[in-house]
Amino acid sequence: TDSDTADEAVRATCDDASMCKRFATSKGYWKDPYIQYFVRQVGERKAPEINRGYYARVQGMNHLLDAFLRKTACDCQVINFGAGLDTTFWRLKDENLLPKKYFEVDFPMVVARKIHNIKTKPPLSKPIIETHSSDSLLIDGHSLDSDRYCIIGADLRELPSLDEKLKKFQLNPELPTLLLSECVLVYMTPEQSSRLVHWAAETFHTAMFVNYEQVNMTDRFGQVMIENLQRRQCNLAGVEVCCSLESQKERFLKTGWESANALDMAAVYSVLPQDDMARIERLEFLDEKELLQQLLQHYSICWAFKDKLKLGLSQVAF
Ligand code: SAM
Repeated sequence: TDSDTADEAVRATCDDASMCKRFATSKGYWKDPYIQYFVRQVGERKAPEINRGYYARVQGMNHLLDAFLRKTACDCQVINFGAGLDTTFWRLKDENLLPKKYFEVDFPMVVARKIHNIKTKPPLSKPIIETHSSDSLLIDGHSLDSDRYCIIGADLRELPSLDEKLKKFQLNPELPTLLLSECVLVYMTPEQSSRLVHWAAETFHTAMFVNYEQVNMTDRFGQVMIENLQRRQCNLAGVEVCCSLESQKERFLKTGWESANALDMAAVYSVLPQDDMARIERLEFLDEKELLQQLLQHYSICWAFKDKLKLGLSQVAF
């Protein structure tokens, strides 16, 4: 059916993201010793502005994630929605920053591929086994459950079933929780993404939601980006609605979150640590400074929190 074709195109987007990340790490933008086990080849060259855009995306998301983990002294859980082939679990393990439990959710077909890679590549499976002490480690075709890492196959648009699966794998609503979505909500309708965000606000009393996605799509540059996504038959019903930073924040403020912030990536880029920035700006010559600015202005990070335990989540920021 049409909707199967659209979902298939959406599932394929995780390969795009991971290939771009693999390429940027091969150029030295940041280190990721694990991504090679999900994307074997470095792949074709990407333009310097794309690599810098991915650098800002990954550093920006990591900044808020790490700040949350420090604020809660890792006495928390993390749920990465639409995680695709993301390698954050392994980074946190290496940096001694693992939360009590790290959950990922994606379509069952994406999860099955991820689990297959984990099962067949010891550098991926070893850290999971090392952080697991009880006797039964569950790995089947569409889920993995260990003490500290859990991967669930589910559709983020079907909340009763998502809720049930997360609880089956010991999601604890009482624990401070960080929810991440990196380039994911844009593939749902505004109603579907609002319901997910609302589910999270209802489920946790102390939580933060960090969302990275396209914004400002109404100008010429944005239209070209939309056409590119449509050519791949992606479901973009939401794009025209969540177009501004204001509407990004509103999605959270209307669904039970206490407070919300949003920055476009040009702003994030300018507040990332300047010494590392100087390093990456020397990696590749960038001719088109203007193009990078335009690209960055079309993506944003929005973060919202509710803080019943008064942990000081408002200080988790840039
Ligand atoms: N977050 C990863 C990253 O940034 O590297 C992957 C991003 S990729 C662009 C989008 C991911 O969201 C894909 O892995 C896709 O399968 C997943 N996704 C989109 N809609 C989904 C849904 N309704 N249910 C579960 N996963 C979904």
